[in-house]
Amino acid sequence: MVDHARLDRDHVWHPFTQQQGWSEEEPLVIERGEGSYLFDSEGRRYLDGTAALWCNVHGHRHPVIDAAVREQLDRVAHTTMLGLTHPGATELAARLVEIAPEGLSRVFYSDSGSTAAEIALKIAFQYQQQRGGEHVRRTKFVRLREAYHGDTIGSVSIGGIDLFHSTYRPLLFETFVAEPGDAADLERVLGAHGDEVAAVVVEPLVQGAAGILVQPPGYLRAARELCDRFGVLLVCDEVATGFGRTGTMFASEQEGVAPDLMCLAKGITGGYLPLAATLTTEKIYDGFLGSYEEFKTFFHGHTYTGNPLACAAALANLDVFEQERTLAQLGPKIALFEELMAAVAAMPEVAEVRQRGVMVGIDLGDHDDALRMGHRVTVEARKRGAFIRPLGNTVVLMPPLSISADELRELVAIAAESIRAAVASAPSQLPQAA
Ligand SMILES: *Cc1c(COP(=O)(O)O)cnc(C)c1O
Repeated sequence: MVDHARLDRDHVWHPFTQQQGWSEEEPLVIERGEGSYLFDSEGRRYLDGTAALWCNVHGHRHPVIDAAVREQLDRVAHTTMLGLTHPGATELAARLVEIAPEGLSRVFYSDSGSTAAEIALKIAFQYQQQRGGEHVRRTKFVRLREAYHGDTIGSVSIGGIDLFHSTYRPLLFETFVAEPGDAADLERVLGAHGDEVAAVVVEPLVQGAAGILVQPPGYLRAARELCDRFGVLLVCDEVATGFGRTGTMFASEQEGVAPDLMCLAKGITGGYLPLAATLTTEKIYDGFLGSYEEFKTFFHGHTYTGNPLACAAALANLDVFEQERTLAQLGPKIALFEELMAAVAAMPEVAEVRQRGVMVGIDLGDHDDALRMGHRVTVEARKRGAFIRPLGNTVVLMPPLSISADELRELVAIAAESIRAAVASAPSQLPQAA
């Protein structure tokens, strides 16, 4: 039998992972999934509390999405969007436009959230350049403090999580920074620099990777109005919030906001295959039209852009939203989730619970970094049959939208027990105890 744990230790380098600690722990080798559960090589089962890192929507091995990918495999696995098109890419673009906020009418495909954000930046920048006149001065971006838009250099430039991003500062372009959730601060930044700004980039309603930071109601609406007032584009990065995560198909809907550019990835294929899309308006699209020798072309494209297998999964993902009335089912589920989290918020080990829809962050407060308190909780959870991931000292619960009420109770119960166990068993030099 192949020793996958050994092969992993010998040859694999994991994302966002200190390999030194990793190779001292027994890696969890996941062989298959079913609904809300993952199964490891020993046959043990775990509730998937991360939804395959925030992208699974309808559960693992959903028969409709499985079948769609298989059927596409019998036609063709991959071609290219450079100089060709295919049925899946065209139908998916039309359906995304149909469900997207008003005015978004064009779909540019890529393959990850990072590239979706990178593309939004480049489109916004080039659009302002090609508008000409005063607009050529619009070369800067406004980002929110603690923002996360991916790991490529452009998307890191508009990111603000020091732990992930500060190392690369010399490589990054300069941005203006606004306080998350503070419309007056955004107004201040745009008031001072508005005529140099190409676009404001936000994660609408919730900043996910920052630790599920929830914005106050009205913030996104205010950001939209400020962008309009200062003639600046608004980019909504819905990579994490899209496809039902916050209770509606897109988070922007909840404040009646239509962005100029919208980034989609994670949930777009139901968590099956790498696909992303950057949506924009006809007005911005038109700014790239011209005869070839005007060189207004958007010179950008990835090899696997608009991959047919991924588009098939994405179309099936949208079919399942309709067939299972996923969004309608979500209301009561979110209410239950909120009720369960209220009890967790009251635990002495918990500083704060932040929640928006099916995105939850359980903040354990200040603990010495060396204690790795969030990580300890996830180790305890694994023993109890759930796979969850921390963001520093915040434990994140982000199950598939299809999770049942009973599974949700089980997930929250395991998280609560694991928090108690982790705090109780941690070495005693806790800052609170000092
Ligand atoms: C995860 C995430 C990204 C990056 O997506 P990748 O597919 O990991 O590159 C970008 N923006 C937001 C808001 C995200 O949550």
